[in-house]
Amino acid sequence: MSTPHVIRVAVAGARGRMGQEVVKMLGQDPELLYVGELDTRQDEETIRQQFAELRPDVLVDFTTPHTVYRHMELCLQHGVRPVVGTTGLTPEQMDELKHRFQTAGLGAIIAPNFAIGAILCMKFAAMASKYMPHVEIIELHHDNKLDAPSGTALKTAELIAAVRSGKKQGHPQETESIPGARGADYQGFRIHSVRLPGMVAHQEVLFGATGQTLSIRHDSINRESFMPGVNMAIKAVMNLSELVYGLEHLID
Ligand code: NAP
Repeated sequence: MSTPHVIRVAVAGARGRMGQEVVKMLGQDPELLYVGELDTRQDEETIRQQFAELRPDVLVDFTTPHTVYRHMELCLQHGVRPVVGTTGLTPEQMDELKHRFQTAGLGAIIAPNFAIGAILCMKFAAMASKYMPHVEIIELHHDNKLDAPSGTALKTAELIAAVRSGKKQGHPQETESIPGARGADYQGFRIHSVRLPGMVAHQEVLFGATGQTLSIRHDSINRESFMPGVNMAIKAVMNLSELVYGLEHLID
């Protein structure tokens, strides 16, 4: 009987809030082997040695918006498949990385949200916006989050914009007596970011039409909620030869 192939997984940000959950999850799945932490706050030679010692098939990244792009470059350099939850990459960086991973024929997954319920929230919101184009997104996160709006809100906005005809909402003559009161403008609809201690990751997409409203809400009440998605992505990325952005592309 042949031994099943175990996927060697390194984690960048292993001591962070998400990283600790990932390490715990890896320890519970016999198909996955946690080979250690990758810390790139080192000189080039030490980084090279880390890759040589850990020999990861996959690098799971939950670090910061400032480091994730460099980690993607290191993965390309070392032929390691990244599974990235860190948010904050710009659309230009994303396009460039898609091109580079495709050219290299190397699998990669970037998912602004690994919680299945959040993916469904995005999909349902896109479905609804076709029929109810008056929409606003409210995303709520803990107050240690560095980027705003959240990657999930941006991805939701992209999916909505793809099916909703461009439309500027609100009163044509509306004004803000305090700048920012109406939130960020994304192709004519608004995104609002709330940052409070006690929150994990939450999103509500509100729709309005004559005499009715519709709310679609998702709450991640703890960080374990992301782990089945991370586990699925680690296994899926081994069979990819390009960069996939969004977990929705991996589920039917
Ligand atoms: P966190 O607790 O601040 O953890 C970040 C970790 O990254 C820290 O342990 C930090 O180390 C480490 N780090 C920073 N620079 C590094 C580098 N160059 N090399 C290696 N490690 C480095 O943050 P978090 O709450 O876990 O969130 C991390 C990211 O995941 C954020 O961008 C967040 O938005 C995102 N997120 C995504 C999802 C999703 O489903 N996609 C869900 C939740 C969060 P030190 O502690 O030593 O500074």
